[in-house]
Amino acid sequence: MNSPPANNIRSERVSSSITILGSTGSIGKSTLEVIALHPCYQVFALTANNNVAEMLQQCLRFQPRFAVMVDADAANQLEQVLMGQGSTTRVLAGEEGLLAVATHSAVDTVMAAIVGAAGLPPTLAAVEASKKVLLANKEALIMAGELFMTALAASDAILLPIDSEHNAVFQCLPPESRLAGSDIRRQGVRKIVLTASGGPFRDVALETLQNVTPAQACRHPNWSMGKKISVDSATMMNKGLEVIEACFLFGTIPRQIEVLIHPQSIVHSMVEYLDGSVIAQLGSPDMRIPISYSLAWPERMNSGASFLDLTSQPDLQFFTPDLIRFPCLRLGIEAAEQGGTAPTILNAANEIAVDSFLSGRIGFMDIPVIIARVQAQITCRKADTIAIIRQADEHARAIARELTART
Ligand code: NAD
Ligand code: MG
Repeated sequence: MNSPPANNIRSERVSSSITILGSTGSIGKSTLEVIALHPCYQVFALTANNNVAEMLQQCLRFQPRFAVMVDADAANQLEQVLMGQGSTTRVLAGEEGLLAVATHSAVDTVMAAIVGAAGLPPTLAAVEASKKVLLANKEALIMAGELFMTALAASDAILLPIDSEHNAVFQCLPPESRLAGSDIRRQGVRKIVLTASGGPFRDVALETLQNVTPAQACRHPNWSMGKKISVDSATMMNKGLEVIEACFLFGTIPRQIEVLIHPQSIVHSMVEYLDGSVIAQLGSPDMRIPISYSLAWPERMNSGASFLDLTSQPDLQFFTPDLIRFPCLRLGIEAAEQGGTAPTILNAANEIAVDSFLSGRIGFMDIPVIIARVQAQITCRKADTIAIIRQADEHARAIARELTART
């Protein structure tokens, strides 16, 4: 019998020029690891907020044409060091730099891996410029889903989900309904099942939750991720955001989406059809799998991740989530049902509340309380212009800041 191929085989593929928005983060670094296995992918541009040390290492290794630092001082610092090393990488600064490398005519693929609302302008610009957009930055879609999907329909862009659950659903849907914007109800789909690990506090005593520390909240049992999404996973707001994300990506409604806690994070999500068939996507909990799937789509290539050995896995379990333990999940589902600016307000309030928790200003269980109070103070509207979205976002942030200062 032939032995299976080694996991570090390099492939010969059609060449592609990539911008990675948020390259110094967890998804950005995993993307570079996959790209390092496949020389056909050229790194056109890398971007970060202010992490000069990491960006310098990435520039020296991948030699992009452009490096963007949003922070102007960080951009100056990077430029000096790169010049000193004889590098040809050009350094740009600010949001204009992000827009320039997300839309440049020499780029065909954009990995959107900035965290939070800051990722919306360059990600939306990449869609409008008809790029192949690999979407990790779920907050951009949640904040402005309708506008985002309208821009997608009006362009020749291709949107591929990186979030492991949505990438799994994408793989389980019939090929003709996978691409964002199509109505999956017409394809015999009964429901989408999004799985969730339940995070680090799935089983701890409820009364201890208020006193958990940021370090405990960021210690995810199965995935290694940035701090914001780690806290979102601990509150399960991440799954609430993912319900909204799935509604936009797959043209469905919250009632057609079920959330199940699956502590082993092996089944990444499932699609149930009208005939009773359920198609699931399984794999090791490693973001290099959805990243390499989306880079190579519609083909497949080696991701560098380990292969799944089901015989050595613990039993796979599935539970209905407890909405008393996880009020953020309920808030997310309600915002999905409400629509309009409700997801924009939810996302903005959550970003401020998570930031306040991470910097020790509020307790863990204050997060849902603050979000609910912000929601109660703002009337939702139709979210059909960028001006309305910006206004709802800023209003929600201002109220959330005031509330966190008083807590
Ligand atoms: P991270 O915190 O590790 O990295 C964030 C990146 O964004 C960094 O490169 C940082 O420099 C950049 N950034 C931060 N603030 C910025 C700003 N104001 N302007 C421009 N750039 C800024 O985050 P991550 O875990 O890699 O997550 C990135 C996105 O992917 C998030 O939206 C997250 O929800 C999503 N996601 C992550 C994972 C995961 O496993 N990490 C899984 C699914 C989805
Ligand atoms: Mg996810």
